Amino acid sequence: MARRNKIYEGKAKIIYEGTEPGTIIQYFKDDATAFNAEKKDVFEGKGVLNNRLSEYFMTGLAAIGVPTHFIKRMNMREQLCRSCEIIPLEVIVRNYAAGSFTKRLGIEEGTQLPRPIVEYCYKDDSLGDPLVSEEHIAAFGWASQVEMDDILSLALRVNDFLSGVMYGAGIRVVDFKIEIGRVFEGDYARLVVADEISPDSCRLWDIETGRKLDKDVFRRDLGSLTDAYTEVARRLGVMPNSATPIKPTVIN
Ligand code: UDP
Repeated sequence: MARRNKIYEGKAKIIYEGTEPGTIIQYFKDDATAFNAEKKDVFEGKGVLNNRLSEYFMTGLAAIGVPTHFIKRMNMREQLCRSCEIIPLEVIVRNYAAGSFTKRLGIEEGTQLPRPIVEYCYKDDSLGDPLVSEEHIAAFGWASQVEMDDILSLALRVNDFLSGVMYGAGIRVVDFKIEIGRVFEGDYARLVVADEISPDSCRLWDIETGRKLDKDVFRRDLGSLTDAYTEVARRLGVMPNSATPIKPTVIN
């Protein structure tokens, strides 16, 4: 097999050069980090689950006309994507108060928000991804005003899609983070949903019991992250091949 050129290694993924120009390969690791990588662990199978779940969400988004960088899943841990220039913002959509939002505004965890709230954080680990306003984004040129309009619209469409799909699986989408990239076509740049959409970057609560099915399980030591993510995958009918028991066909 040809050796792949590594472009970048992050906390949960490795990015390699793709098989064709203009593509990259995302390799999903089993590593979990929290609190700006101060807490670390490895959960066997997490990468496989996130590869499948992100494929599921990205293909679903494409099917309703939301552009994404995803091209195809290659194997258990890798997916081929269009290479894009990542806008240095974490785009966060919140439906219920949780995490940093509860602390910042003194709102009790789980409070339903009057409408989805979109926030932007500047992607810089050394600064702890600080919250920024559209003023900062415009002044520092991280995205144009036209792009910001598109980003807001993409974020809300992803929210509607994810919330709807998850509601069908008995899961509440409390909040999530997406990243947006620019794909260049000649002189023209088009925005796409990039990176991944998985329980690593969402807060997902069981609607009936409130059980957490996302990375908070790891942040708060609530049990096995793989078990929580497997539950999400199971409810959505997305199971990694290795975890799918192959039942013999019985013909009567
Ligand atoms: N999030 C993420 N990566 C980050 C920061 C946040 O994926 O670097 C996700 C997080 O999992 C949650 C949402 O964005 O679903 C909102 O996170 P919050 O601002 O509450 O920060 P946290 O409490 O997770 O530090």
